[in-house]
Amino acid sequence: LLDDVRDNLLWVGVVFLVLIGFAWWETGRLLRRLRQSEANLRNVFEAAPFPMVLNEEGQLGLRQANRAAKAYLDLREDDSGDFSSESWLTLYAAGLPTEIGEARETPILTADSDQRWALVSAIPLHFSGVSSRLISLTDVSELKAIQDELRSASLTDGLTNIYNRRYLYLRLTKEVDLVKRYHHPLSIFLFDLDHFKQVNDTFGHGVGDEVLVQVAAALKGCLREVDVAGRYGGEEFLVILPHASASEALEVAERISSVIKSLPWSQPQLRVTISGGVHQYQCEALDAFIEMADRKLYQAKESGRDRVVGDQV
Ligand code: GH3
Ligand code: MG
Ligand code: MG
Repeated sequence: LLDDVRDNLLWVGVVFLVLIGFAWWETGRLLRRLRQSEANLRNVFEAAPFPMVLNEEGQLGLRQANRAAKAYLDLREDDSGDFSSESWLTLYAAGLPTEIGEARETPILTADSDQRWALVSAIPLHFSGVSSRLISLTDVSELKAIQDELRSASLTDGLTNIYNRRYLYLRLTKEVDLVKRYHHPLSIFLFDLDHFKQVNDTFGHGVGDEVLVQVAAALKGCLREVDVAGRYGGEEFLVILPHASASEALEVAERISSVIKSLPWSQPQLRVTISGGVHQYQCEALDAFIEMADRKLYQAKESGRDRVVGDQV
């Protein structure tokens, strides 16, 4: 019986040892695969062409940053092995996205103080058991510049380089909204160049264009920071004068008229005068508001040109 027990124990021991050996070998294989897969992941992270950083929840410093991120955000490693930089701190302070799929256009301060824009997105994840965010950045500076240029071009008059009619409408709508809320005065001045067809006919279209450019430049020089001037039509201009009463606006209009009248021209016989109408907003609809100034402009033309007609006080 003792021999039987010894034989069985021996077998159990052998099987046990084989099992342990197998488990040992299998664990080693799995660990190697795990390490390999971690190294692959790290290589992908490191070699990604766009900046990626790993930010632990509530931590200012960065646990991980790939090569592109280190260059883009000018990241430096501190004594504790974390990465940080002025650019990163500014980005952090601006507020990072918190939801998957959320991407924010954020200004980035680069090492050479160049203003860049990045589309910042974040993926919340658990990394080594800690709540973290994997943040990726896509530089959109060029796109943003083109976007700004397009926006500005769509609101600017190509010849005179001042605002166009589209912008004037948008801006006037906004100014009227402000008046409805805060009840301050708002006036407009609409003016038109006198006998401009004759200017073109006598001196040529090129000179006519130059007159428009010079008038626009002179107009800009007459205004306060809050005033807005634009080309309303062919040889018609509109000035928005927030916080100006009818009489204050009339004063500005008279000044503009006299500045334009005394502009020097290379053609000695050239005379440029304007006729215009001033109107203070009185809670009418937007089109009626402009129409009131237009009516006064018409009166100025009818009564002999080279003058400004304001609201009757
Ligand atoms: P009024 O005093 O009644 O305003 O007479 P006017 O000749 O100025 O008015 P009219 O409406 O008869 O003519 C306006 C002229 O403005 C005709 C048009 O060719 C000219 N004009 C409009 N836009 C431009 C432009 O961009 N460049 C040039 N050179 N002329 C323009
Ligand atoms: Mg005219
Ligand atoms: Mg006209």
